[in-house]
Amino acid sequence: MNSEVTLQVEYKKYVCVVCGYIYDESEGDPDSGLPPGTRFEDIPDDWVCPECGVTKDDFEPLEE
Ligand SMILES: [Zn+2]
Repeated sequence: MNSEVTLQVEYKKYVCVVCGYIYDESEGDPDSGLPPGTRFEDIPDDWVCPECGVTKDDFEPLEE
């Protein structure tokens, strides 16, 4: 028996539509207390863009 399961974690990026700041789930936002790997949906609602101060509502998924 040789069953190998590869767990692939896909991180997404989200861009602030106001200033262009990119939130990368794989990097998080350590300065705001978000460790690397924090999913966008797991970010607290009181988190704001570190560049311009808008909330998550002004972020949208970044298509690569
Ligand atoms: Zn911003």
